[in-house]
Amino acid sequence: MEVVKDPAEMQRKAEGWRREGKVIAFVPTMGYFHEGHLSLMREGRRRGDVLVVSIFVNPTQFGPQEDFERYPRDLQRDLRMAEEVGVDVVFAPEAGAMYPPGFQTYVEVKDLQEHLCGLFRPGHFRGVATVVAKLFNIVKPHVALFGKKDYQQLLIIEQMVRDLNMDVQIVGLPTLREPDGLAASSRNAYLSPEERKAALALSRSLKRAEELFSNGERRTERILGEVRSILEADPLLQVEYVELCDPRTLEGLRGEVGKGALLALAARVGTTRLIDNTILGEVDSAEDNAQGQDPQG
Ligand code: AMP
Repeated sequence: MEVVKDPAEMQRKAEGWRREGKVIAFVPTMGYFHEGHLSLMREGRRRGDVLVVSIFVNPTQFGPQEDFERYPRDLQRDLRMAEEVGVDVVFAPEAGAMYPPGFQTYVEVKDLQEHLCGLFRPGHFRGVATVVAKLFNIVKPHVALFGKKDYQQLLIIEQMVRDLNMDVQIVGLPTLREPDGLAASSRNAYLSPEERKAALALSRSLKRAEELFSNGERRTERILGEVRSILEADPLLQVEYVELCDPRTLEGLRGEVGKGALLALAARVGTTRLIDNTILGEVDSAEDNAQGQDPQG
């Protein structure tokens, strides 16, 4: 496994592989790997002749009051884990190489960012779309893999790729969970044992909503009320949002849930912000991509 820091060197490598007709699979990450990251890498390994993973804690997607400085980092541990999964190249640039002085070009996906996390993290998705666009130009992947844990991010990347005619297949993969249901996240490392326990309310509330839905409940107020009451029962937990929305446009649903809905939530456990989501019913779009297709066919 190779570690590349220089964007220009990464680009030369990628161009070489392309000339040889190799399929490039790519998993962008901020590092501090967990099973969720590894599941994307394993799928990438299956889909590509070469597998590139990027590790970059992207400053432009963090707000001034957010956790950029204290975001967990452990490159040596990440490299060992990546090697075990069979990653070919880890691309780990410095911030200064990605955003040199005078940098002034950004990618913004307008409407999809006006919902859910976008409302609580101004500028976040602009930072995400910009860095992913840059990474695509550097790594030149045929297929790029993302987790549905960050569902809004996945939709935004899919939209960006369509709108800007980027020649890359986006694959969305299911949320990897700890045995007790907690969605794997690098930020789980912030949680004290007590907070870790409280955080279980997130996945528990989603499970309860799934149960209601499968028992025929379709009233959004009922479903949202139940989820909220589970979350609010825990004094360590502070709800940021709980929404039922259209899984393609993220517009909030009123009245009744139709064929399918995204149930998404964000909450603070102590100072740690966690998100989770589930799909109630059937949807196409992001759901379809879970299965994905052969990158060449
Ligand atoms: P991050 O390092 O948190 O930016 O995440 C890198 C990629 O891993 C993104 O595509 C995330 O959606 C994905 N990811 C994060 N957590 C999970 C999880 N629990 N299950 C599946 N994918 C995940």
